[in-house]
Amino acid sequence: MSTELQAELQTAVERRRNFAIISHPDAGKTTLTEKLLLYGGAIHQAGSVKARRAQRHATSDWMEMEQQRGISITSTVLQFAYHGCQINLLDTPGHQDFSEDTYRTLAAADNAVMLIDAAKGLEPQTRKLFEVCRMRGLPIFTFINKLDRPGREPLDLLDEIEQELGLQTYAVNWPIGMGDRFKGVYDRRSQQVHLFERSAHGQREAIDTAVDLGDPRIEQLLEQSLYYQFKDDLELIEGLGPELDLDLVHRGKMTPVFFGSAMTNFGVELFLDAFLDYALKPGPHASSKGEIQPTYPEFSGFVFKLQANMDPKHRDRIAFVRVCSGRFEKDMTVSHARSGKTVRLSRPQKLFAQDREVIEEAYPGDVIGLNNPGVFAIGDTIYVGSKLEYEGIPCFSPEIFAYLKNPNPSKFKQFRKGVSELQEEGAVQIMYSADEAKRDPILAAVGQLQFEVVQFRMQNEYGVETQLELLPYSVARWVDGGWDALQKVGRLFNTVTAKDAWNRPVLLFRNEWNMNQVQADHPELQLNAIAPVV
Ligand code: GDP
Repeated sequence: MSTELQAELQTAVERRRNFAIISHPDAGKTTLTEKLLLYGGAIHQAGSVKARRAQRHATSDWMEMEQQRGISITSTVLQFAYHGCQINLLDTPGHQDFSEDTYRTLAAADNAVMLIDAAKGLEPQTRKLFEVCRMRGLPIFTFINKLDRPGREPLDLLDEIEQELGLQTYAVNWPIGMGDRFKGVYDRRSQQVHLFERSAHGQREAIDTAVDLGDPRIEQLLEQSLYYQFKDDLELIEGLGPELDLDLVHRGKMTPVFFGSAMTNFGVELFLDAFLDYALKPGPHASSKGEIQPTYPEFSGFVFKLQANMDPKHRDRIAFVRVCSGRFEKDMTVSHARSGKTVRLSRPQKLFAQDREVIEEAYPGDVIGLNNPGVFAIGDTIYVGSKLEYEGIPCFSPEIFAYLKNPNPSKFKQFRKGVSELQEEGAVQIMYSADEAKRDPILAAVGQLQFEVVQFRMQNEYGVETQLELLPYSVARWVDGGWDALQKVGRLFNTVTAKDAWNRPVLLFRNEWNMNQVQADHPELQLNAIAPVV
C-alpha cells in the first residue's frame, strides 16, 4: 500500500468521532443536537434546524405520507467539524417514526450518547436502545438534561443507572444548583467551576466563566447556601466510586456522566470537549476475512438502513452505508458481496439536516447515502479487492403485529412479490403463523410507521391495495435451540408460535407480563429479544 494512503487513512481515523443519541421522546434530543451543531459552528443560531425543516415541508414535494403526518421520515446524518475533528452524528428516529432503523443505526455507530431527562430518569425507549448498545459493547456517554428545571437528585440518577443498567458511572462534571438556581457545573477534568449565564433564548453559546477550584472568587460568585452545598458535594463526589477508567468506558462497562441543560446551553461545550477526548475512534469490524482495520487500504462498508419512502415522482431510494475501511471515492466501482455483482456508485450523498450534497470522498466512520437501484438490502457488504463480508444486522423484537391481507385474488402474484421483496430488503419483519391454516403474512414492526410504509409501497410499487388486521401481541421472543428446544418444553399457554423468514420459531405474547409468566413456568426456555444474525 502506498504510504501516502496509509497516512491519509490514519489521519482521517484519528480525526473522526461517530455517535448516535439514545433517548426517550422529549428528553431533548432535537435540542441537544441543535446545540452541538451550534458549538460545532455548523449553524449560527439555534432554531435554524427546525426552521429549515418547517420551510422544507412548505415547499417540498416529498411523498404525501410525510406531509400528511407532518413529520420527517427522512433520516439524517449530521457531519460537523469541531476542534479539528469530524463528528458524525447518526440520527436515531424517535416519536412516531421509531422503527427498526432506530436500532439498526446503532450498528453503524461507534459511540452512544444516552440522553436522560433529570426529572424522569431512565425511560422505556432509552432502556431498549441501551440493550442494543450493550449487545454491541458500545461506549456510552450519559448527558443528564434539563437541570434548569426541578429534577431528581444527581446521586439518585447515578444510582438508577448503576442499579438498573448495571453500568458503572463516573460523574465528569457535577451540577451546582438546580432549577432556577442552576448556576453551573464543576468540571473534574480541569478542576474548574464553570458558571454560566444564559444568552437570549439559548440561541447562542452560553456565557461561561471558568474559575479554578482554589480561587476565592467562587465564594463571592455563588450565593452562600449554594456555595456550602457545593463544598459538601465536592467532598461527596471525590469520595464517589472508582476513578474514570477509559478502558472500561470503551468496553461499555462504565459511563462518563455529564449534567447540563441543552436548552440554555449550560454544559454542552464541556460535554463535547470531553466526548472528543474520550470517545472511541472508528475501529476494526469483524468480517468473513477476520477483523478489518479502518486503515485497511481497500474501501469496504455495510448497508445499515434503506430509505425508499420518498417522492414517487423520483422513485428515490437511498441505501445508507457505514464506511468501515479505505477511502471511498465518487463514481467508484464496488463488489456487492451477497449477489456477487459489480455496482458503480454514482451520486453518493452526504446528508446535512435534510439538504443533500454530493460527496467526493469519505473515510471510515463516515456514512454515505447511495442511490439504491434495488440491489441493496439491510446488512449487505460492499467492498473493493478480495471478497469480504461483514456480520449482518440482527432482527429486533417487534412490538406491533398485523396480518397483511390482499383482498383482491387477481393481485396474488404482485402481492407475493411485494411481500417477499420488502421482507428481503428489511423494510419490515415478515412472520407466518405456525398454524398452517393461517396463511396471511404477519407484519411485525417496531413502530407504526413501518406498517404505513409497507402499505404505501405495496400500492405504489406493486399496485396492490392491502388491508391490515392488527394482532393483539406486543412482545416477540426468539427461542434458543429452535424447534427442538420448543418441542421439549411441550405445550405453552398465553403465547402463540410464529416462524420468521428463516423458519425459526418466535413466540408472540400479549404483553411482558405473559412472557414473564411463561418464562417462570419454563425456566429452561432461553428467550431472546434480539435474533442472532443468520
Ligand atoms: P426530543 O423529543 O428528545 O427531540 O426533545 P426536544 O428536543 O424536542 O425537547 C422536548 C421538550 O423539552 C421541548 O419543549 C424542549 O424545549 C424541552 N427541552 C429540551 N432541553 C431542555 C432543557 O435543557 N431544559 C428545559 N427546561 N427544557 C428542555
